[in-house]
Amino acid sequence: MAVKIGVRRVHVGLANLDGHMKAKEVTPLVSHDPKKVVDQVRELVARLLAQCTPQEVIGMGICCPGIIDTKKGEVIKAVNLHWHHVPLRQMFSLHFPWPVFVENSMDTGALGEKWFGSGKDVQDLLYISLGNGIGAGIISHGELLEGYQHAAGEFGHTSIDLDGLLCPCGNRGCVELYASAPAIVRRACAYLEKGGETRIREVWDEGSEELTCEVIDKAARLGDPFALKLWQETGELLGRAIANLVNLLDPEIVVIGGGLSLAHPILLDTIAAVIWDTTASLHERKVEVRRAFFGRDSGLVGAAVLTIERIFA
Ligand SMILES: [Zn+2]
Repeated sequence: MAVKIGVRRVHVGLANLDGHMKAKEVTPLVSHDPKKVVDQVRELVARLLAQCTPQEVIGMGICCPGIIDTKKGEVIKAVNLHWHHVPLRQMFSLHFPWPVFVENSMDTGALGEKWFGSGKDVQDLLYISLGNGIGAGIISHGELLEGYQHAAGEFGHTSIDLDGLLCPCGNRGCVELYASAPAIVRRACAYLEKGGETRIREVWDEGSEELTCEVIDKAARLGDPFALKLWQETGELLGRAIANLVNLLDPEIVVIGGGLSLAHPILLDTIAAVIWDTTASLHERKVEVRRAFFGRDSGLVGAAVLTIERIFA
């Protein structure tokens, strides 16, 4: 059983030992209160158990944003969920009979892609998730690199502008403030408010829905110059930021996952070109940039991998 707790949604999946999701349930989070999140997961698990024999389930892997003490199964800090020292394993173990494992969603994203996805042929990969937040999972010599205090991979909070916008993390100019989904939507809204010309207006049903990256993406696929430029500029910014990590970690491949990995190809192509331009003088071999095989589900698949890895390793 795999669980992914996001800032807006919770996903629960039933996976085979080969990482294949047999069934999946997704629902918007009703509250960030950890007890209510556990209750929501219980409901989703009950729905999935109706589709299998409960004895077939060997364990439960849970991933969520933030800094996790994986030994204790505790979320030390998750700024976006406003969680501090939440003992997730203990809370889930009260309701489920299986061993429970907890890990950061970026790390499970890297695990999912390494075991069954775009990185199954390599030992050194850098996984970057682009969505409502931005983060990284690092696999070095086949092993997850978690860091001394479980905080490795907080790529979204590396600063690209020392005098830039103030981030909820307390720093200024964090990557997440410029290249995450909400940041891209903010830039599009500012352009629309100025009366800028774009086909976003034509695609977007202003009366009934919020402007989203999906809408901006649809406009880009219609050839809208503003939407294409927005993806390209975001790709340039991310490419430069990711190149710093490539210089630091020397991965064999970079895997781009999360919801934005499904955007117009100009985003990934620009990221790849900028990484190459920026690192070519130091790296003899071109660092390959691949789209995540599991798209926005890498973290959920990785939560299943976590269970398999911990039980059978
Ligand atoms: Zn920050």
